[in-house]
Amino acid sequence: MTTLLAWLRKKHILRGSEPVQCLGCGQCCEAFGGHLRASKADLSRWQELGRTDLLARVNRLGWIWVDPENGQPENHCPFLQRVNDKTAHCSIHEVKPDMCRDYPTLAHEKRCLRGVFLH
Ligand code: SF4
Ligand code: SF4
Repeated sequence: MTTLLAWLRKKHILRGSEPVQCLGCGQCCEAFGGHLRASKADLSRWQELGRTDLLARVNRLGWIWVDPENGQPENHCPFLQRVNDKTAHCSIHEVKPDMCRDYPTLAHEKRCLRGVFLH
């Protein structure tokens, strides 16, 4: 029975009491925020908005985020603001990169790092 329930949940047929909204924990940002790329749409959007602060953090291959002072890759996202152990915020939420907007993708079966199904 346990196996059947697990299979139904995996196929999103049964979700029971599992959360379906982002918990705002910031764990995905901590795990992946130092390994992102800006899309062409991101670059256009940031140019239109005059976000030179964000553009200065993109290297010539599109990798983000780099230190604007020396161009070296950051190993974390500088825009994640941790509130406490359980909660964190994105300080550029309105203009965040497409990779962040699109996460988790179908390749992750729309489940994030915490196993939350987000659609
Ligand atoms: S998407 Fe998942 S891992 Fe990321 S903040 Fe939301 S609940 Fe946490
Ligand atoms: S830009 Fe925002 S959503 Fe993307 S990794 Fe950084 S804090 Fe997270």
